[in-house]
Amino acid sequence: MTRARRPQLTVADHVRGVRAGDRAVLARTITLIESSHPRHRAMAAQVLTALAPFTGGALRVGLTGVPGVGKSTFVESLGLQLLESGHRLAVLAVDPSSAVSGGSILGDKTRMQRLAADPRAFIRPSPSQGTLGGVHRRTRETLLLCEAAGYDVVLVETVGVGQSEASVANMVDTFVVLVLAGAGDELQGIKKGVLELADVLAVNKADGPNVVAAKRRARELERALHLVRQRRSWWTPPVLSCSSIEGDGLADVWQSVLAHRSELDSRGELDVERARQRRAWMWARITEALREQFEAHPGVARGLPEVEAELTAGTLSAAEASERLLACFSGDADV
Ligand code: GDP
Repeated sequence: MTRARRPQLTVADHVRGVRAGDRAVLARTITLIESSHPRHRAMAAQVLTALAPFTGGALRVGLTGVPGVGKSTFVESLGLQLLESGHRLAVLAVDPSSAVSGGSILGDKTRMQRLAADPRAFIRPSPSQGTLGGVHRRTRETLLLCEAAGYDVVLVETVGVGQSEASVANMVDTFVVLVLAGAGDELQGIKKGVLELADVLAVNKADGPNVVAAKRRARELERALHLVRQRRSWWTPPVLSCSSIEGDGLADVWQSVLAHRSELDSRGELDVERARQRRAWMWARITEALREQFEAHPGVARGLPEVEAELTAGTLSAAEASERLLACFSGDADV
């Protein structure tokens, strides 16, 4: 079956459609900014520049937790509550594991069905290709597009594996970590680094026979938090418990997110933090662009097989190998 080609959108079409909150145009604009085609890149830059004045207005929230902790159930339940109270919600799902497994777990159509069907919500799984520190290299720009489209809450969700939590924490105002109760072992796979990033922790599945264990776990985590370096001297991450299925405790989690954000605001930290995030993202993108240029450089491409062979054989150190390739790149030498 052949599909009719959709008419191409101009830069003005993209800008107008995104501003109007047209979900179909927003989705196509995200596809445009994800494209590495030079013509698309040029257009994407124009669209982002035109929309820049309309960004920055959302509450940016990160969410992480191991697979199975209940992230999609949590997002669906909390998301529906937020829509009911008048918010518009965008969910960006980042799934670094799909690069390994080949399929996108978060792209699964069965996730967040009710939320996905609601016109006040927008759900976008990130492609697994082209990641930058575990998030898609355009996730931050996607967040900005959602803001320009009028979503006042943008939730960036990531699977608690790999490096992606740190990258997500670096592009949101408040970072929520979901954990499970009673999986036996003490910290049950929660990496210390993730605890350090958390602004709000919630033990999920606190329902039925699990309530007591969930509360106990929350107290354990509170104690564990005293042992890790806090991200901000003025904020002690609250540890709550909730049931995403029954809806209990979700309002408290949301209240903590709001409390954290209002502390950021009242201390004048939000602007400082967002400026820091823009700088971090700029450097991440520069690093990525330089690496791409490095790999595409003809001198490097010529020299690489031999250098790698010597490195593998152990006749060349990593330091020497990198110096030789860097010399090729700067045009001083061939291998
Ligand atoms: P994700 O992999 O983190 O997105 O987790 P899911 O949201 O897909 O949930 C994994 C499983 O846990 C599913 O079978 C859910 O129905 C179940 N689940 C999620 N939240 C809760 C909860 O609050 N209580 C209970 N009892 N089960 C839950």
